[in-house]
Amino acid sequence: MTNIVHILNAAQIEQVITKYAANKVERKAPGVVFAAKLPDTSITVYKSNKVMFQGAGAAREAAVFGEVAATAPKVTNTKGDTLPDNFENMSVIGSDETGTGDYFGPITVAAVYVPANKVPLIKELGAKDSKQINDTIVREIAPLIMQSCTYSLLTLRNPRYNEIQAKGYSQGKIKALLHNQAIAKVLEKIAPEKPQYILIDQFAERGIYYNHIKTQKLIIRENVLFSTKAEQLHVAVAAASIIARYAFLLEMDKIGEQFGMPIQKGAGAKVDEQAARIIKKYGKETLQSVTKWHFANTTKAFAKLKKH
Ligand code: MN
Repeated sequence: MTNIVHILNAAQIEQVITKYAANKVERKAPGVVFAAKLPDTSITVYKSNKVMFQGAGAAREAAVFGEVAATAPKVTNTKGDTLPDNFENMSVIGSDETGTGDYFGPITVAAVYVPANKVPLIKELGAKDSKQINDTIVREIAPLIMQSCTYSLLTLRNPRYNEIQAKGYSQGKIKALLHNQAIAKVLEKIAPEKPQYILIDQFAERGIYYNHIKTQKLIIRENVLFSTKAEQLHVAVAAASIIARYAFLLEMDKIGEQFGMPIQKGAGAKVDEQAARIIKKYGKETLQSVTKWHFANTTKAFAKLKKH
């Protein structure tokens, strides 16, 4: 299916909405302000001023409304594998994780398959490194990516994390296991189709990564590439970083509801403060159930309690 995305100004958006008013359909998806359906083309207007044309008539309809936005500039200073030419336009499974540096909340890992024909769509939905976009945008874009692509999302909540951490699993090993599993699930979902490559946002060198997962029954090795800054090298990794971040935010929302306050991200002084308050009010087991217990924040929170 053809997907074409244009970024339009307010006047052009008005033209689109007027032109397709008679073909308007209801689309409740987040970020969508208008949608229309022709016999051979779907037109979707997003709050971000992106207009997507999908289907056999996409090129014909989109041609009326100007040029597709230019692609991102080349990335340099990455570490890891050298990628083939034109890599950014290939069919790729990307994987990335979130939450490893946050005291509160889970580790989430996502793997996403973006086939070559969906690369423009995912780019134009605004998929880039989730560290470069704010959480409001993450919440808006993630569901759109999840509707458009095959993905797998793994959430390692704190009780299980603390259990395996206490058994001696390093964060590197935990991440490697989750990445391998998420990628395997996506491969299973898209079979018999295969990606041209799998790109992992590098947190460990290849040898270390495979050493971490050597006892697994299913170890994904074929066409696997590693690179740092991988979010910028293929939208599949950017998409994975956004889905992982989104899942992390939803979990943090839940924890926040449990305690009736927004939960601090990261591992700084405010986190210690909040952890101390939770111990005081709910006890240490409760705090343990929502945190990465081995972090220094635990000791610091207890120290703060003593001072009060
Ligand atoms: Mn990463």
